[in-house]
Amino acid sequence: MLSCRGLCAGYGSVQVLHDLAIEVEEGEIVALLGANGAGKTTLLRTLSGLHRPSAGAIRFDGTALDGVAAEARVRRGLAHVPEGRRVFPGLTVRENLAVATSAWRRGRARIDGDLDRVFALFPRLRERAAQLAWSLSGGEQQMLAIGRALMSRPRMLLLDEPSLGLAPLLAEEVYARIRDINRGSLTVLVVEQNTVLALDVARRAYVLENGRIVLAGAAAELSRDPRVRDAYLGA
Ligand code: ATP
Repeated sequence: MLSCRGLCAGYGSVQVLHDLAIEVEEGEIVALLGANGAGKTTLLRTLSGLHRPSAGAIRFDGTALDGVAAEARVRRGLAHVPEGRRVFPGLTVRENLAVATSAWRRGRARIDGDLDRVFALFPRLRERAAQLAWSLSGGEQQMLAIGRALMSRPRMLLLDEPSLGLAPLLAEEVYARIRDINRGSLTVLVVEQNTVLALDVARRAYVLENGRIVLAGAAAELSRDPRVRDAYLGA
């Protein structure tokens, strides 16, 4: 469903991503692991069109994404949940979800139907529909950020560190919902520093170091790999 080849990106004269190649098959959850500064966020932003690569090719659902703007990628079914959630603090939960569709000029009935689907997945968001987003807990804001991405009816989600700043139980809850979303046929590429959680839900994983893929394979195998255990699992 998503692939990139020879992907290079950076900031000014600093190259961050070096000749990256990754693939995500339809229906998979794939994890992208790596320490701070490895380039994970830069890769997701490059895939979603928020950052321009200096070289390489990205394909999504059979077509090339070169020159395709970020909003057009969303319309094609590729949605991005950014690091740090970035919900609109002064809007209510319902408004945060609705703004994601306003640019599409959908009919009221369709928007209500999409809201219902998100609320069914995250019942706590329904209970807090009229609450301002700043007053939500970190876990609820993460669910809102994921819900907002789902409003665009994506086929694939790019998730940037969904466990960041969450207490362990909340992080597990967020990952349980990611699993539910995937069962509902959504493909997921998740960037994560919480290696245990990510390898638990993912089918395959890549490990990024200094902007290069240094390991790739089945998640179950990687979780037993001494290099992953020593560097990322604190074993
Ligand atoms: P983290 O887990 O800490 O978010 P990451 O793996 O997502 O790290 P990136 O945020 O992609 O890593 O950053 C990769 C490198 O690019 C870092 O050295 C960072 O300092 C640099 N970088 C990121 N954004 C910018 C920017 N806007 N301008 C200049 N350098 C940047």
